[in-house]
Amino acid sequence: MGADAPHRDRDGLRPRLAGARRPQGRGPARHRGRCRREPVLDSRGRQDRNHQRLRRCLVRGLHPRPRRRRLDGHGCAGTDHGQRPGGTARRPRLDGYDERRLRTAPGPRGLAAPRRPDLCRSRSSDGREVHSLLPARLVDRGVLPSRNRAQGILSHPQSLGRDQSAAEPPAVTGRYRRYAADWVVPIAAAPAHAGAVLLDPAGRIVAVGPSETVPAPPGTLHRSFSAAAILPGLINVHTHLELTGLEGQLPDEEFPEWVRHLVALKRARSPAAVRTAARKGIEDCWRMGVTTLADTGDSGAVIEALAGLEASGIAYHEVFGPDPRMLEESFAAWAARLEELGQFAGGRVRLGASPHAPFTVSGPLYRRAAAHARSVGVPLAVHIAESPAETELLATGSGEFARRWVERGIEPVAARVTPIRWLEQHGVLGPDVLCIHCVQASDEDLGRLAAHGSAVAHCPRSNRRHGHGDAPLQAILDRRLRVGVGTDSVASVAPLDLLAEVRIARQLGRLSAWEAVDLVTRGAARAIGLEDEVGSLAPGRWGDLAIFTIGPQVDQRQLAEALAALGSGDLLCTVLSGREVWMAPGAADRPEGDYHFPPGS
Ligand SMILES: [Zn+2]
Repeated sequence: MGADAPHRDRDGLRPRLAGARRPQGRGPARHRGRCRREPVLDSRGRQDRNHQRLRRCLVRGLHPRPRRRRLDGHGCAGTDHGQRPGGTARRPRLDGYDERRLRTAPGPRGLAAPRRPDLCRSRSSDGREVHSLLPARLVDRGVLPSRNRAQGILSHPQSLGRDQSAAEPPAVTGRYRRYAADWVVPIAAAPAHAGAVLLDPAGRIVAVGPSETVPAPPGTLHRSFSAAAILPGLINVHTHLELTGLEGQLPDEEFPEWVRHLVALKRARSPAAVRTAARKGIEDCWRMGVTTLADTGDSGAVIEALAGLEASGIAYHEVFGPDPRMLEESFAAWAARLEELGQFAGGRVRLGASPHAPFTVSGPLYRRAAAHARSVGVPLAVHIAESPAETELLATGSGEFARRWVERGIEPVAARVTPIRWLEQHGVLGPDVLCIHCVQASDEDLGRLAAHGSAVAHCPRSNRRHGHGDAPLQAILDRRLRVGVGTDSVASVAPLDLLAEVRIARQLGRLSAWEAVDLVTRGAARAIGLEDEVGSLAPGRWGDLAIFTIGPQVDQRQLAEALAALGSGDLLCTVLSGREVWMAPGAADRPEGDYHFPPGS
């Protein structure tokens, strides 16, 4: 962050080389080295074999394998780029931007990536094989204008449900891509006027900064945008993408009644419709400049869609069960489904766990689910301290949620605690927990979150739509909690316009322009534990870009305000892992060639 960018957290740039790229998933830093090895026992005291299998599957996706070689002076090293594990070929040095070595990898057939048997392929008009689930369909709809994206996609196979440690790393067969604009805003470093970003064929950032410092290896694809700014791809820290399509179908009503109607709408949808909704939800995020999302849901459709679209995000799988007498059944069914969904984790797709909310989850189930999530190494997300009705349920065992429990034969517990204290009492809080909403949070509650290192997902429009009030964003930031902004679902607010959320959050928290932008970039990445991967532009991080028009002749003093005032209509292009997943109409005329926008600029 530059001197003119007064973020609250001033951690410096921590560059990682493209060589630090891992072909398989790499989990949040907070998980590394934290998994316990002791066996988990089932209800009869026997070792739970399913648990061990799930743990093996997930932990391999979340923990980096040992790094073998130091590559540069930054102290970063990684697996060999495009080489088999244990191979001897050297990876190019990139720290000095040695242009002789920044050449497109030849991509010999012998190193071709293993093909995913579960994905269909077809031939494009030029005879090239393409991924039929992605570019053909999306290009038809104008979502994916870049035809050569298919090459990148095929170079990123994921290991879905297989032993990820045994999968071969992908071959590097694509092109370098260089994006230039009036401003490049790395977030974690000073903005660069007349800047550029170079992405390697595997979709990682190689270089970023003033254009003259960013090389252009032979064969590089150039994109140049005038009156524009290049930001890191935005991060939406709270969505329910399986609900896509349900916008406008629920009336304004008291929150407990709204929840009841939402459940009925969800149950009326077929599994196929939910899968379609999840995929469309991800594509809609791309149209808003969002490249990484943190989603909660109970269908499993979103993690499947993330994997199928080679997208980026965490899918927290929800568990429900307010009746403590049903603890074993609720937990067992959820844990089994979590294991199934582990097949989709890998690459940039992560699985998480979500005990839903205090009005749908009993205290014992909270405890059990949180312990299980930690034992298998997945992060947690919880809806908490959202509505006054939820607070009333836990404080006095009364209110609308309590009445509904009584109707179902469940006795409310007058715990006489706040929702956040309730989480703490049941062992849920920790640095691996994302607390969604936190509207009904006292100063004491925020102190608890700070003490446990938990993060906050702030959803200002959703909170207001349901009449919950405003979350104490200023106090949350003053406590130095990790916080990002999320939209919640289209059933609450539509469309999922993250930049609209930022504008409200800025007013609410009386934030500077840079602080507001941070809530959907670096701050959001920290909130979900992915700050080493996304949220800023630096060598080694993913090549996720959101390119916006900001108007001509924006100078350094005006830049922050121009960025904080951006709307989704200002988006020109969204790049995910070096793939152009969305381009504004008129900006995709020459998808294969060097390109300037506006044409002639
Ligand atoms: Zn939500």
